[in-house]
Amino acid sequence: MDFKEYIRVIPDFPQEGISFKDITTLLKNGEVYRKAIEELKTLVSDLKIDVIAGPEARGFVVGAPLAYALGVGFAPIRKSGKLPYETIEVGYDLEYGKDRLAMHTDAIEKGQNVLIADDLLATGGTIATSVNLIRQLGGNVVGAAFMIELADLNGRSKLDGIDVFTLMQYE
Ligand code: AMP
Repeated sequence: MDFKEYIRVIPDFPQEGISFKDITTLLKNGEVYRKAIEELKTLVSDLKIDVIAGPEARGFVVGAPLAYALGVGFAPIRKSGKLPYETIEVGYDLEYGKDRLAMHTDAIEKGQNVLIADDLLATGGTIATSVNLIRQLGGNVVGAAFMIELADLNGRSKLDGIDVFTLMQYE
């Protein structure tokens, strides 16, 4: 299936020069959404995965159904101040400004194999920060799965050797 047919590309959103890849047009089609998750499941089928971790909010839309399909747990990665229990946090730079991501200290057990999932790999900053959090908790990152990769931004280079799985690539 050509999943790209279901992605809406919006030029200059949220700012000039950004070509925004809108996945809502894929998500609203139940058959295509399910096929996308099934395809990601096939791509990661050789990995031994104990838990999937995904950054809010679109990482939940990809990571949670993939976790359900694989029969493994899901660990949310959230913006600072949202998680109710004890957390660890890591700061990171955005294109403009800074942000912080957090995880519960008991979200991952030491030695667990973790697959990271998100909608889109751009510069890789969000995923590199997620890897940092998971490793601080003693997790072993076995791969990162995305619906979309923006290949020109070379986010893979920030993921030092972690296997990357994607359904679609854009220049
Ligand atoms: P990055 O940290 O640069 O890899 O950016 C990752 C996050 O920003 C992804 O989770 C996306 O949700 C969002 N994002 C970045 N660039 C785009 C884009 N061109 N279209 C849609 N979402 C984007």
